[in-house]
Amino acid sequence: MKISTEGLKSFIPNAEIERLLKEQENAPASRIRDIIAKSLDKQRLNPDETAALINVKDPELRQMIMDGARELKERIYGNRIVLFAPLYVGNECINDCVYCGFRISNTECSRSTLSHDDLVNETKALVETGHKRLIMVYGEHPKYDARFIADTVQTVYETKYKKGEIRRVNINAAPMDIEGYRIVKAVGIGTYQIFQETYHQPAMKSCIPEDPRAVSSGDWMGWTAL
Ligand code: SF4
Repeated sequence: MKISTEGLKSFIPNAEIERLLKEQENAPASRIRDIIAKSLDKQRLNPDETAALINVKDPELRQMIMDGARELKERIYGNRIVLFAPLYVGNECINDCVYCGFRISNTECSRSTLSHDDLVNETKALVETGHKRLIMVYGEHPKYDARFIADTVQTVYETKYKKGEIRRVNINAAPMDIEGYRIVKAVGIGTYQIFQETYHQPAMKSCIPEDPRAVSSGDWMGWTAL
């Protein structure tokens, strides 16, 4: 599915980010401690404070950052963990992300897409093992358009087994246009998840060198209308 970037411009201030990272090298330990305390106070960090944390090399200070992160997470979420099972619907993909086994250049990968019956059987098996939440995963391919995704989600929601059912289906698929999001929303999906591996554009291009579209999957998220 091709999403045009015509009329869009990048909103990621690369030069500013590089400048901040350089400027915040070797921040004193007292500043790092203050930033951790600010974070634990649930105040949003400024970009220069984040840059200072990223630059920390001292093992003790790094440990303080990790301990602070764990404490903040526990203060906000406690010990709650939400589990969901992945259901891979299809691994056809037109992209060539170097880190992914589904990439188009991987000729050793066997490609398949679950049929309606496969989906029903997979759902029953997942329900039987106690799952109530899924994330359905699709490669980036014209055959996995919004209508296809909506139909597969509906199949899962309609499958009941031994008094059990899947109550929430999240989606992991390619970016869509607005009409596409309307179609999948209409079947009651939970979260629509699109991975953005990095906002660092040179790194993004090195990971996804041969993308068939003007910009890579997710890379378009760094762009906004003029
Ligand atoms: S778009 Fe997704 S499925 Fe396709 S190659 Fe990249 S990471 Fe893999």
